[in-house]
Amino acid sequence: MRFDQRVAMITGSGSGIGEGIAKTLSAAGVKVVINDLDDQKIERVVGEIKADGGTATGIRADVTKLDEVEAMYASIVREFGQIDILVNNAGIARDKSIRKMSEADWDAVIDVNLKGVFLNCKVASEYMRERNYGRIINISSRAWLGWPGQANYAASKGGVISLTRTLALELGKKGITVNCIAPGIIETALWHSLPEDAKARLLKAQPTGKIGSPKDIANAAAFFAADAAGYITGQTMFVCGGKSLFANLG
Ligand code: NAP
Repeated sequence: MRFDQRVAMITGSGSGIGEGIAKTLSAAGVKVVINDLDDQKIERVVGEIKADGGTATGIRADVTKLDEVEAMYASIVREFGQIDILVNNAGIARDKSIRKMSEADWDAVIDVNLKGVFLNCKVASEYMRERNYGRIINISSRAWLGWPGQANYAASKGGVISLTRTLALELGKKGITVNCIAPGIIETALWHSLPEDAKARLLKAQPTGKIGSPKDIANAAAFFAADAAGYITGQTMFVCGGKSLFANLG
């Protein structure tokens, strides 16, 4: 599948899943914008995409700050003339039981994972409306189903699904689709930091017997981002090796 002439912003794409999505879209011909908080991470990903023959630029911006988000899209439109695809990927976790979870833990996670998605959708969709075309893909998590120790994270990811459904209704007539991906366990730095016994327990609970890779999420994002997916909106796709089929096992 080729997407030549399309321009995509992927938030939090200096590492992990976002980096995988940016590289997959770039390999399909999309001009990609790498956003993150860390300049070094941005430079590395932009450099690797360019070395592979892609077109990429980087913008350091905090997705929770409206002025930074506005400046980011103004800069994209100045450089590329348009924004076609937005992948809201930036996310954080501060896992604790509710007894230990502070107000600051709650606010930090809701700010990045939910408010950040709202702000990017709000600003990007104004540019998309002008061209009557857009693909918005929000990264939720299987954790939205509920998970002990993740009250803030699960609530933020459930909120992302409600936001997706609502914006699909608001923006549909403007040629903009809004969909969601709910990943299960994905092999990122977090996975490698887990103790071996925790990894073994989690693997045992996977119906497919294996965990996913950033590429698995990137493939789903590329599907929603395609022109051909224009009749699909407001949907959430689980990409979790079937673990959503039994929500609370391990
Ligand atoms: P990651 O490697 O930590 O990537 C997240 C990126 O978001 C980081 O590069 C981070 O930048 C950036 N970021 C954080 N706050 C930001 C902000 N305010 N503004 C701009 N960028 C910000 O995590 P990941 O595992 O790839 O996760 C990506 C997404 O998938 C998240 O939404 C996560 O909730 C979701 N997810 C992940 C898994 C999994 O198993 N990994 C499962 C389900 C869902 P810095 O590190 O430079 O601060």
